[in-house]
Amino acid sequence: TMDTSEFGNKGFVPLYNDFEAFYTRNVYQRVLHYWCHPLAGVPGANIEIWDRKFGSFNENIRLQDTKRNYLNIGSYNYLGFAENNGRCSEETIKEIRSRLGTTTASPRSELGTLKIHEELENLIAGFLGKDACLVFGMGFATNSMNIAALVDDGCLLISDELNHASLILGARLSGAKIKVFRHNNMKHLEKILKTSIVEGQPRTRRPWKKILIVVEGIYSMEGTSCNLPKIVELKKKYKAYLYVDEAHSVGAMGKTGRGICEHYGVDPADIDILMGTFSKSFGAAGGYIASNKDIVAHLRKESHAQVYSSAMSPPVARQILASTEAIMGVDGSGEGQRRIRQLKENTRFFRTELQKRGYILYGELDSPVVPLLICSIARLCAFAKTSLANGLAPVVVGFPATPILGARARFCLSASHTREQLQWLIDLMERCEPVLGLKLSSRHKQKA
Ligand code: PMP
Repeated sequence: TMDTSEFGNKGFVPLYNDFEAFYTRNVYQRVLHYWCHPLAGVPGANIEIWDRKFGSFNENIRLQDTKRNYLNIGSYNYLGFAENNGRCSEETIKEIRSRLGTTTASPRSELGTLKIHEELENLIAGFLGKDACLVFGMGFATNSMNIAALVDDGCLLISDELNHASLILGARLSGAKIKVFRHNNMKHLEKILKTSIVEGQPRTRRPWKKILIVVEGIYSMEGTSCNLPKIVELKKKYKAYLYVDEAHSVGAMGKTGRGICEHYGVDPADIDILMGTFSKSFGAAGGYIASNKDIVAHLRKESHAQVYSSAMSPPVARQILASTEAIMGVDGSGEGQRRIRQLKENTRFFRTELQKRGYILYGELDSPVVPLLICSIARLCAFAKTSLANGLAPVVVGFPATPILGARARFCLSASHTREQLQWLIDLMERCEPVLGLKLSSRHKQKA
């Protein structure tokens, strides 16, 4: 048999040295192990999880036949569509049975294009204020397969250091020269741009065929938003292209859920490529690229995710149509807008209440990704265990996904959370604080 330990995890995160390899395998993965419990229901504000024996790290943990209820503060169910998808009603289910089926069994470019795909692409393009759109079966592949169709060797790709793994993979597959700028550091980005062009020369005389800046709307581990107005200014000044991954911002940011452009009041026409996923605010699966007609036509022909991968599953497309129509208010129920407002209200309440009490949070006020800084991996373990024991299911993340002393719990807020649930969570954290010592003030006391 193959010895899998020899593979390392190089494909996942670059390993810098043996220490990192040791740490990842022996410490961090054990913390993660707590979370490998299968869900027993939809990932709503509450989730049922199959109970497994805690404390056992071997591969053959026996599944217990009991389910437990947890408050779910970890899924990306920002608008609550994962549990209750607006108009995804009996009628839609009947339509899936009679007309749509569950698979296209073919890529888009062969026998896989259905009317529902085209309908969805038109709707998403209109929603985002772009000319055209292309949808894919997987968000991760949308990044990793399309960047390679946009730039190649001879091009320069400038990437925020905290970009998602799918963007990093896409950048590497493209063969373009990659330069990384410090997270959201506009001075550093400009320095790279400045040294990368011959100033005053027309675009054809530059050392690079194309320069592509790649950023995220809301960063998934930090809860920060990109400084979009400044990035747009720089991309215009240095004649670069801009690619924005809106996985965590579309639906969740902006007054009407149109994402980071709306949040900052930036014209979507200034962003060359708007990418997003359907696995979060839309409560479904897949990804999109919204851009101008030429780029979309090019990707339709060249993107491996279009040409060599089966088209988006039709019921998934139906689900996304229903949630997008709800967000846009086409269904006339006002439900989508109500959820966007509710998410904002929940996020602001939760952030201000925790910050007031002295917890260290990252990200900005309206970001539904709320990282709580826990720092050490030992505390992270204690936090994970305490949470599970008390019926709370957050996501915990540590090195190498974060800096070594930047371990954190990543809370994701949802429109489905009630005020009582959030208050319960705050009270729980307060009760556990004497043991966990998460607050800034507790740490100062400990040091003294
Ligand atoms: N981009 C970002 C920023 C993400 O956080 C993720 C996954 N969470 C993806 C892309 C991949 O999306 P999906 O999970 O829908 O494949």
